[in-house]
Amino acid sequence: MWTLVLNCGSSSVKFALLDVQGGQVRLSGLAERLGSAGASVRLEVDGARRTADLGGGSYAEAFAVLAGTLEEMGVRASVSAVGHRVVHGGERFSAPALITPEVLEEVRACVPLAPLHNPANIAGIEAARLAFPGAAHVAVFDTAFHQSMPEAAFRYAVPEDWYRQHGVRRYGFHGTSHAFVAGRAAQLLGRPAAELNLVTAHLGNGCSVCAVQGGRSVDTSMGLTPLEGLVMGTRSGDVDPGLHDFIARQAGLSLSEVTAALNRGSGLLGLSGLSNDMRELEEAAGRGHVGARLALEVFVHRLAKQMAGMAAAMGRVDGLVFTGGIGENSAFVRRAVLARLGVLGAQVDDAANAAAVRGQGGVISPPGALAALVVNTNEELMIAQQTQALLAEQAGVSA
Ligand code: AMP
Repeated sequence: MWTLVLNCGSSSVKFALLDVQGGQVRLSGLAERLGSAGASVRLEVDGARRTADLGGGSYAEAFAVLAGTLEEMGVRASVSAVGHRVVHGGERFSAPALITPEVLEEVRACVPLAPLHNPANIAGIEAARLAFPGAAHVAVFDTAFHQSMPEAAFRYAVPEDWYRQHGVRRYGFHGTSHAFVAGRAAQLLGRPAAELNLVTAHLGNGCSVCAVQGGRSVDTSMGLTPLEGLVMGTRSGDVDPGLHDFIARQAGLSLSEVTAALNRGSGLLGLSGLSNDMRELEEAAGRGHVGARLALEVFVHRLAKQMAGMAAAMGRVDGLVFTGGIGENSAFVRRAVLARLGVLGAQVDDAANAAAVRGQGGVISPPGALAALVVNTNEELMIAQQTQALLAEQAGVSA
């Protein structure tokens, strides 16, 4: 059963056509620089790569190329389901939802919570519904997996009105990835997910950790926005809430300039003064670059503290799971973090750790130690699976 998965950003669309059962990908690609003259799309069709210019570069133009390619492949008519990644579902969505005008309105109501992401997601959905009118469209939310967090984990210690009137609480993100890798880790460990307490670490350009108890999120490091928590590529993660006022006065910055600097000029980039790219930083640190070394040290220090905190949120931990570009590839980061987490009984098998790169996942801890695993995340497959599961459930209900 072929499912089209769309991930619409403000100037890009990532897409994939997947078979849910086998996980096979027939078509994947990325449309970039939408809205500008240089808009283009890169596609991989049955293993063959091609590119196309996109004129003015609207979502509609990107989807026209996509629809034409599906036609050429002879599969357009059999694409009956489209799964959309939607960043913020607020408190309203704890599961995927069939997109109706009412659901779209509720996604719109979440725009103040994700002003950069949700408008792009909505615009993408609207264009995709026009391009694929015969298909069922389903929204899969980044926040939904974390709606199972208890109030003790999701509330901030701020005036209650802020929560009741403005939705100020911790929501968490990367839910699709945390759910997927926790499920895969349970399979790799040969134990039912319902019995396991796992700490999952999604470490890419954005980074977050999650406490997954019996397959449900009970705590996570990101909060109201994806800025809270770990040190990331260009995001600061946790800072003193007093920082905004202090630096605004000292440096003469506006609130939005401070926010922009915390989102785009901080993290690994801000600390190193060199790059937001972990690979580049590891190389530079190896050559003795002082900023790169510091960036790695702070990254690992904060990650270890957050992972230990997630273990404490559950009271017991059965496994540590690494995913995302850094989690799946950086033997250095995993080794350094697991050394710190000796406090939880973690150890690293150096040979297995070194081998777990470029798509090779698996267990990287020695027998007898707390299990540590590398799992390749596959958000597209998870979105496709959740899309099909919802449609099957609804077909069952209406049958
Ligand atoms: P993602 O957002 O999941 O694509 O992850 C991007 C991050 O993964 C960047 O910081 C990359 O430098 C990092 N990354 C990718 N490959 C490697 C590698 N072989 N070693 C260390 N970091 C890597």
